[in-house]
Amino acid sequence: MNILDRYHAMEYSPAPEARNEADAWLAARDFSKALFIDGAWKAASGGRTFETSEPSSGKLLAKVSDASAADIDAAVAAATKALPKWSAASGYQRAKVLYAIGRAMQRHQRLFAVLETIDNGKPIRESRDIDVPLAIRHFIHHAGWAQALDRDFPGHKGVGVVGQIIPWNFPLLMLAWKIAPALAAGCTVVLKPAEFTPLTSILFAEICERAGVPKGVVNIVQGGPEAGVAIVNHPGIQKIAFTGSSEVGKIIRKATAGSGKKLSLELGGKSAFIVFEDADLDSAVEGLVDGIWFNQGQVCCAGSRLLVQEGIADALIAKVKTRMGRLRVGSPLDKNTDIGPLVDLTQLERVKGLIAEGARQGAVCWQPDAALPSSGYYHLPTLATGVSPANILAQEEVFGPVLATMTFRNTEEAIELANNTRYGLAASVWSENVNLALHVAPQLKAGVVWVNGTNMFDAACGFGGYRESGFGREGGREGMFEYLTAKLPLGPVIKPATVSAQPVEQTDGSAIDRTAKLFIGGKQIRPDGNYSLAVATAKGKLAGEVGLGSRKDIRDAVSAARACKAWPEATAYNRSQVLYYLAENLSGRAGEFAARLTELTGASAKAAREEVDQSIERLFLYAGLADKFEGRVHQPPARAVTLALHEPVGVVGIVAPDSSPLLGLISLVAPALAMGNTVVAVPSERYPLLATDLYQVIEYSDVPAGAINIVTGRSAELAGVLAKHDDVDGLWVFADAETCAKAEAESIGNLKRVWSGNGCGLDWASDEAAGDAFLRRAVEIKNVWVPYGD
Ligand code: NAD
Repeated sequence: MNILDRYHAMEYSPAPEARNEADAWLAARDFSKALFIDGAWKAASGGRTFETSEPSSGKLLAKVSDASAADIDAAVAAATKALPKWSAASGYQRAKVLYAIGRAMQRHQRLFAVLETIDNGKPIRESRDIDVPLAIRHFIHHAGWAQALDRDFPGHKGVGVVGQIIPWNFPLLMLAWKIAPALAAGCTVVLKPAEFTPLTSILFAEICERAGVPKGVVNIVQGGPEAGVAIVNHPGIQKIAFTGSSEVGKIIRKATAGSGKKLSLELGGKSAFIVFEDADLDSAVEGLVDGIWFNQGQVCCAGSRLLVQEGIADALIAKVKTRMGRLRVGSPLDKNTDIGPLVDLTQLERVKGLIAEGARQGAVCWQPDAALPSSGYYHLPTLATGVSPANILAQEEVFGPVLATMTFRNTEEAIELANNTRYGLAASVWSENVNLALHVAPQLKAGVVWVNGTNMFDAACGFGGYRESGFGREGGREGMFEYLTAKLPLGPVIKPATVSAQPVEQTDGSAIDRTAKLFIGGKQIRPDGNYSLAVATAKGKLAGEVGLGSRKDIRDAVSAARACKAWPEATAYNRSQVLYYLAENLSGRAGEFAARLTELTGASAKAAREEVDQSIERLFLYAGLADKFEGRVHQPPARAVTLALHEPVGVVGIVAPDSSPLLGLISLVAPALAMGNTVVAVPSERYPLLATDLYQVIEYSDVPAGAINIVTGRSAELAGVLAKHDDVDGLWVFADAETCAKAEAESIGNLKRVWSGNGCGLDWASDEAAGDAFLRRAVEIKNVWVPYGD
């Protein structure tokens, strides 16, 4: 045997992590009193418990109290009681508490890591070197935000009592992502961990006791979906922050519709790992190991779809197989283990089922020739080739160690394949040509893009998805907004539109009859149904008739908005000039619009002229801000910069209010346009002629066809159509409470971003009804990680 043969024949010896401290911790606790409510340890009111077991052996670890609805009530009551003092505490006081939590966690970090590994099954290398240090960093980073609140978020305040629900794949890290920003913002918390992995949250609650967290500020309740439902539906909670499956995310979106609760959803993914032919293949293989086999693939942003350029596919697959053959599957407490068990038998069965179905649909599934431990929920790393884009392994989140592979020919095809998913959480792009990578990154529908890397996270950088991967960001400045509310100037409560009888008094016939159509794809178009809606003057006479828009018209308008590439691809400077031009052309007809306002609404000549002037000013404002509401560069503690880019949300539906019918419409449409969105607007149902009068202004202002589409008609009905339309990415609704609630509930198809006034208008004339609060809703933030150095 030569030296090389000997080298390859070398065996790893077992390198087990000691577990005696963790076992002693387990033995010393009464888990039947595991609810941490108002600073005290309580049993579940009904006395129920659930079991948590060790994935590597199936052995029972603890029987943990299972919170009932009454326990959730108690936790919310404690959080409510603690809120006034905590939110009024100085940033410095809150910062000291967050810092103390971080430091106390540091002192117990090995115990956290071992407990996490025992309870979840993840390799100790990962819990010790990634989960726990990142969780600690989150608390220490957010101590700073507590003190920077007034400086960085003027006009904002903490949202109140927050209900937080987390999954089992990163139990401690997800807890940190939730609790740290909430405490920094002055919120109090009721958090529910996943039922498979309660242990580190219990240790965390003990840390809270020691770190001086005031009673009731952090409440941790254990339990399953039932406890989750009780949190979601609790009227005493002002915000729900959820991380978990898209399926449950949709249930929660529906359940909170109309409640006024702020909502952030961090859901599943099917992230693309794109390897171009000029990539450093060995680095890409290492990245892939991390991308898909980290935490056994039970990672929301796992790079579970390998897209490889045709010319290098065979070479890369060969390298991947060789590397897979060297992955060590075994006890998660062994420091050499790469792949531990899945979290639970149900998860193992699910993964097996999906692989079998993928194979049935034509995928070739390959696994290395390795033995699995005799007990525990282990699964070999699996490579699926010959996967068609429609294969279940290419479309469904497996949440296991399964990589689906597809090839592409050129850059366009890579982008198309990458975006061929209902999810949009993350993507990795591998190329030695950073120009190519940075050309591709903005075109990927994903909240996080890693260039020549994968699974990079930091407390200073935002994380979160597009599309059905949810909405909201966690981490850094972006994440803080999720726990804050901006003071917006509230307007009157909006009443449901009554379907009015046609005005009886006709015009005298002296003016030439004008037909107000719909405005779709840059053209004035008759409504598909060929019905009209009469519009009355303030005095009840017939002012004119507008098209009665229908489902088909909305569909056409959405298609036109989607097809309009000229607007999102225009430079911000170009968009700014068009918005200035709109303002200019509106000002040229200001007198006419003011007269129309007076005629329709009965406003005095002075008030009407003021509304027109304010509308022009608002267009000017957003024209000016179009190239100023920029992203940022985050500087994580790594050799990387993270570009937090502002991107348009996409196609945005807007249902504008009756109050200030011109200013309200422009206050909503202009910020959406400024950020590069294309718009389908439903103007005021009562005063639509102000919008139809705008068609000519739009036509004269160099607005590309399809950038602004206007469909007049019944607001409630059209809002519903927009909400259900899966090609609408965002929806802003200022209508009566029922219409708003329905829009939220019906938006779950593609989890569009809904901003509703919850039945309340805004005081559109106020300076506060403009600016960053609007622009923030008009963008998605994409964090692009760009490592540097050799
Ligand atoms: P899950 O949705 O089944 O459960 C998540 C949590 O929700 C658990 O605490 C569960 O008890 C609770 N829950 C279940 N049904 C509920 C209901 N009807 N109402 C309220 N709460 C309910 O997800 P899971 O299987 O625990 O976790 C895996 C999922 O989490 C994957 O889809 C993964 O992609 C996702 N995830 C996303 C992120 C992210 O940041 N985007 C991070 C980690 C995990």
